[in-house]
Amino acid sequence: MGESCSLSKTRILRGTPANKPNWKLYNGKNPNLYTIGIEHETLDGEELTDVQYQSTLWLHGQLLAKYPAIKPDSDHIIGHYRTDSVNRPNDPGAKFPWEQLFKDLKGEEDMVDNLVIYADGDVGAALILSQKLGCPMVHKSSSSKYQAAQKHWVGVQGANDSGNIYYAGANRTETARAVLK
Ligand SMILES: [Zn+2]
Repeated sequence: MGESCSLSKTRILRGTPANKPNWKLYNGKNPNLYTIGIEHETLDGEELTDVQYQSTLWLHGQLLAKYPAIKPDSDHIIGHYRTDSVNRPNDPGAKFPWEQLFKDLKGEEDMVDNLVIYADGDVGAALILSQKLGCPMVHKSSSSKYQAAQKHWVGVQGANDSGNIYYAGANRTETARAVLK
């Protein structure tokens, strides 16, 4: 990947490209052709360390932002055991924090989905941000309605000073996190 993880003592390695199968066929289709594999370095039955969890959460978040068709649920993010229950029954193991992972990923998605941009001066800058994030933009006069609905909302006053932060972030989740700080 072009970006590196900032978490210390953790390395995220890129493995076999998806077009080079390295495990057997499942239901007639090779899962390597339509999945992205993530391996965690633990022994059977061990829990992830906190740093490992934060790293895999970050990686999942990057992939979900890049591939919006992948949703944070058990239909889209599955254990290796589900494609090979014979040879991989403990992959990733009973202690893998599925519920926490889905909850944390859903939280990031909700943050972006509930973001509303309102133009408070520089309509052009607000429009660019709303398009980058895929969020609605409303005029300031309508903003009280969105506040009442407890949406996150960001006012864009200008593109020069702190407005530059509105374009930060490698993807919509990161950008949303930057503007909500
Ligand atoms: Zn595996």
